[in-house]
Amino acid sequence: QNTEKSGAAAVDRNQQLFDRARQVIPGGVNSPVRAFRAVGGTPRFVQRAQGAYFWDANGKRHIDYIGSWGPMILGHGHPAVVEAVQKAVLEGFSFGAPTEREIELAEEILRLVPSMQMVRLVSSGTEAAMSAIRLARGATGRSKLIKFEGCYHGHADALLVKAGSGLATFGNPTSAGVPPEVVQHTLVLEYNNIQQLEEAFALHGDELACLMIEPIAGNMNFVRASVPFMQRCRELCTRHGALLVFDEVMSGFRVALGGAQSIYARAIPGFAPDISVLGKVIGGGMPLAAFGGPRSIMEQLAPLGPVYQAGTLSGNPVATACGLATLREIGKPGFFDALAARTRSLVDGLAGAAREAGVAFSADSEGGMFGFFLLDALPQNYGQVMKTDGPRFNKLFHGLLDRGVYIAPALYEAGFVSSAHSAQDIADTVAAASEVFRAG
Ligand code: PLP
Repeated sequence: QNTEKSGAAAVDRNQQLFDRARQVIPGGVNSPVRAFRAVGGTPRFVQRAQGAYFWDANGKRHIDYIGSWGPMILGHGHPAVVEAVQKAVLEGFSFGAPTEREIELAEEILRLVPSMQMVRLVSSGTEAAMSAIRLARGATGRSKLIKFEGCYHGHADALLVKAGSGLATFGNPTSAGVPPEVVQHTLVLEYNNIQQLEEAFALHGDELACLMIEPIAGNMNFVRASVPFMQRCRELCTRHGALLVFDEVMSGFRVALGGAQSIYARAIPGFAPDISVLGKVIGGGMPLAAFGGPRSIMEQLAPLGPVYQAGTLSGNPVATACGLATLREIGKPGFFDALAARTRSLVDGLAGAAREAGVAFSADSEGGMFGFFLLDALPQNYGQVMKTDGPRFNKLFHGLLDRGVYIAPALYEAGFVSSAHSAQDIADTVAAASEVFRAG
């Protein structure tokens, strides 16, 4: 077992693997952000992981603040989860027929997220968000939808959209291969902008199938929807008969046991979204996601209703075992209080280190999710996030990476702390950041 913390290996295996990968996989990666294009340098190829750490191909240890982009809330290789997965594997990998474990997982999800009366399991957040949009359109008989700049809902065509030239015009595709006609029903608004929201509903409210939002956005680093903004989203959707769709793929079971919606429900009496989209933590690191809502809406899905949706691997027995074991661990008393305190200690420590070094810094966290910005004040929308000094962030990223601390390789991504991160890991991270800040 190699626990080497620093020092370059004689042969850079990460670089060797990256060179080899680029011959056979576009960009050498199976999801673009992994290629380090934003920050430059060589992606670290993971050899293995345990607890709060992974070891790269050079055998170097990293404190992992990505955790597979959110799912690994218990850290890597939690014994209860490993045991559940090993047992499930021996019973069979996939049946394409229903199992009791799917019911157990569905029951557990509904118990934890009371706005949902029924849930459908799928295999990725993209699939869940795409299916939720189809369901909202099928249930309302309408086509148009609102999304917000900086929120990511996976890579379904209708959601790969950037703002058009004005509120009366709908969006433009952000990817080649998405026909303009496919996004002509998607309106893109500024996050936390109540006035724009009201204008959009005044113009298009009665044609809207849904408004989809990341309530605590983790794809423009970490930005909360303000309570008044969320309250207005709910009121306008209700008044105009549009469905409020919460994309909690990242925030679900991560910012709180009941997701971000439990936080807004505390601030806004009677608050609930109509449809919730879940992923990441519910699979505990296996391909699993879900969408759900009230019975009346969910019964629109095939085989009961006219909205078609299906999947060969949906409700996969190994993934459901992994997800169930994960949810049972995070549901234990005190889990979230401890995780939130640890995460808070990280952002407070980083803020202190930045202050001492005279570096502009702001940070926020909720549960096991955090964001920090090389900005004086917390941003409220994507435009403000992107005012961050990119080269300065890249310097920080590489300074931390050199010191064995692995944060997201892009300034618009959130970070994640797991229950396996110790007080010592946090202290080591803050000490590393302090060195980098002081180096300028
Ligand atoms: N929705 C949100 C909020 C996400 O953060 C992501 C992925 O990061 C997705 C949807 C898409 O999920 P997946 O990558 O599992 O397709």
